[in-house]
Amino acid sequence: MTQPTSGGDVRLTGISKTYGSFTAVHPLDLHIPAGSFFALLGASGCGKTTTLRMIAGLEDPTTGTVQLAGEDITVLPPHKRPVNTVFQSYALFPHLDIFENVAFGLRRRGVKSVKKQVEEMLELVQLGDFARRKPQQLSGGQQQRVAVARALINHPRVLLLDEPLGALDLKLRRQMQLELKRIQTEVGITFIHVTHDQEEAMTMADTVAVMNGGRVEQLGAPAELYENPGTTFVANFLGTSNLIEAEITDKSGGDLVLSAAGGKLALPADRCGAPVRTGGKLLVGVRPEKITLAHAEDAGSVPEGRNRITGRIVDSSFIGVSTQYLITTPDCPEITVYEQNIERDARLVPGAEVVLHWNPAHTFGLDAAQDID
Ligand code: ATP
Repeated sequence: MTQPTSGGDVRLTGISKTYGSFTAVHPLDLHIPAGSFFALLGASGCGKTTTLRMIAGLEDPTTGTVQLAGEDITVLPPHKRPVNTVFQSYALFPHLDIFENVAFGLRRRGVKSVKKQVEEMLELVQLGDFARRKPQQLSGGQQQRVAVARALINHPRVLLLDEPLGALDLKLRRQMQLELKRIQTEVGITFIHVTHDQEEAMTMADTVAVMNGGRVEQLGAPAELYENPGTTFVANFLGTSNLIEAEITDKSGGDLVLSAAGGKLALPADRCGAPVRTGGKLLVGVRPEKITLAHAEDAGSVPEGRNRITGRIVDSSFIGVSTQYLITTPDCPEITVYEQNIERDARLVPGAEVVLHWNPAHTFGLDAAQDID
């Protein structure tokens, strides 16, 4: 339907940004494949917007180069780059209707017949029936879709999205995440999306770069980052990690044997991001939904080969899709467990003594020398 445009890959080489004595982005090397949906994820102030603005040409890098589809665009002004940006503030023209807002980029380039292209673009963002409305007659989500259509009309090779859903309420945000993903799949160009919302990054992107303090801390597919975080920052930023202090007691087998939380745990050696030596300290983590609970009196029914520790329920709350338990265990912080499909009557109550057990393959090990953020 829309005129085909191929996405370009973006290569950042040694790119950095310093403001006076403050370094917002440390020298960064990043390759963003053509046609991918890439997310820069991190807390406020970590440098993600600055990185995006350097790709857009809105910020001059202090060092390094930006390449798009093999061409060095580091010194090219923003309007000469085959790139467009969608901001959180939709910045639509209030006096123009939706059709003219979307047509704006074409008219500015002197394109005479805009009708077909604008109509196709409005179809793409499912606003075909809204062409003659003014922006203020649309909902926040619809206005955001107009902003996307307006950014795509000139067929950029890369679309940059700077917290584009930040002003929307949670439900609409979730809908728009799927909508943006659909649009990206349909147009096939490269999307680079900045967000501080880990669920948003995980839902939409095929690759996520987690930024912290002006650096990329880890890069990977969402599931890979979630299941095998490389640092405590990433483990804690992406969901709940349940980090427990542990010591390596045996490294002679395929799995490392650890002493932790008053018991013995197994950790596959290839899931250990800490130096492996007997007596070495590390942090082991397991995600809340990977843990199963059994009453202490049923401990005998826990299958062989599972990691297990004992604990006591301190809180149990129904959170819609699952029940969330907070559990104290010997010598470690509270552990969070999510269990699904529990009948109301079967829910464990505070004070209950339990065995927490999980598949060792779902355990990950991190360097204890890192700070827990
Ligand atoms: P947010 O989600 O809040 O937008 P961010 O991760 O996008 O945060 P940046 O906007 O990239 O962060 O800013 C990174 C750091 O650089 C921040 O500490 C910010 O205060 C600083 N910074 C950004 N622009 C400037 C500027 N023009 N002058 C001085 N410092 C700046």
